[in-house]
Amino acid sequence: MERPDPVNARYRQLPAVDRLVERAGKDTGLARWSLLAAARAVLTAARAALRDEKMGGEDSGRLAARTHELARCLEQPFPQSVLNATGVVLHTNLGRAPLAPGAAQAAAAAAGYGALEMDLASGDRTSRLRHVSQLLTLLSGAEAALVVNNNAAALLLAVDTLANGREVILSRGELVEIGGSFRLHEILGASRARLCEVGTTNRTHLYDYQRAVGPDTGLILKVHRSNFELRGYTHELSLQELGPLAREQGVPLVEDRGSGTFVDLRRHGIPEDRAWAGLEQGADLVMFSGDKLLGGPQAGIVLGRRDLVERMARNPLARALRVDKLALAALTWTLRSLLEGSALERLPVLRMLLASPRELRARAERLAKGLEGSGFAKVSIEEGGSVVGGGALPELELSGPVVCIAPAGSVGELARRLRESETPLLVRVQRDTLVVDPRTLADEDLDQVVAILAKLSH
Ligand SMILES: *Cc1c(COP(=O)(O)O)cnc(C)c1O
Repeated sequence: MERPDPVNARYRQLPAVDRLVERAGKDTGLARWSLLAAARAVLTAARAALRDEKMGGEDSGRLAARTHELARCLEQPFPQSVLNATGVVLHTNLGRAPLAPGAAQAAAAAAGYGALEMDLASGDRTSRLRHVSQLLTLLSGAEAALVVNNNAAALLLAVDTLANGREVILSRGELVEIGGSFRLHEILGASRARLCEVGTTNRTHLYDYQRAVGPDTGLILKVHRSNFELRGYTHELSLQELGPLAREQGVPLVEDRGSGTFVDLRRHGIPEDRAWAGLEQGADLVMFSGDKLLGGPQAGIVLGRRDLVERMARNPLARALRVDKLALAALTWTLRSLLEGSALERLPVLRMLLASPRELRARAERLAKGLEGSGFAKVSIEEGGSVVGGGALPELELSGPVVCIAPAGSVGELARRLRESETPLLVRVQRDTLVVDPRTLADEDLDQVVAILAKLSH
């Protein structure tokens, strides 16, 4: 017999699953599987809240609304495709580098069975990295290359392997945070290496490194300040200056450059060395992300001395941090387009970064023309500036024409409604102006962008 328990009594007031499904799904077109899963989750949460006395009797209208919302979420593809009109080429919250269609096709083609770890001639097991390593060494001239899941993994693997139980020497000026979850000292804390901070936030000298280096040193690390600048009374050492000390002490010098490109961007006026420049300047290893300036999929790429790369590959952590076959296929395609010399046309990141003012103006004019007669108070083309984003080139501002829109109502409200439109449109808000930056849009997106904006212009 049931005890006269007040909680039990309240449980009984909750609707049955079927009733909740029916009420939440009425005239919505939502599928039964999603409604059922949502209703169960909502009821479980409601029971837990009743048990913990976090709420009184829950109104069944609210439970139905919550079920409806959750079912809608469950049916949505993830991640939802969006149109990026922010001008931020490597937008961390929008998935960083957009893949080239060819790279995406290569990933899709790799989804089935493939000779990922099999040598077809002999039938023997081989490394999944054999092909990509070859492309990377051919492109960079580095002795050896390794690819893992992402650059954070590459750094973790390097310090864990090369400074196992020993110290990693790092300037306090490079003890950085790159996006909330990547903080240098925390990554080091997760490895078997110990951090040895040298210098101060603004100035680090050779003697700071000289005093710290000793038998307990595993490696010297240089980290690129990817998302901020240090200006004023500052001093830091270049790889050229650190190289002799590292060699004299017999410790590896490792550069985490965050972003790496294989294209000579300086020829196009962008102050960024090629990814392997650090090796020429005295580093033994350099590492960077696949989905920043390189313009490929998420990956962590390591280039440099063969003996060090081989030691890293033998660390059991390498297996835990390995790159998956879809990313590997997309990366291989991306590297091949670089080797072939077609990357400037084929990689979206490079196309956006190097878009000519003429190209951008033509797109801006098409957008502005499309918005003629819409309900906006004012639409004009102005000179604006985009940033690269994604922890790359913090000092660089890319200038070019943008479309400025003065809405009749609140600009923040309009930006929110654009984010929530059927195909979300992401824009920049500058005071009371909405900025649509054509740099991160493709020609074939423009009609849709106009339609989304026009619809919300009244
Ligand atoms: C972006 C960045 C990382 C992290 O790279 P992920 O590929 O996102 O893991 C590490 N170090 C630096 C300096 C970076 O800029």
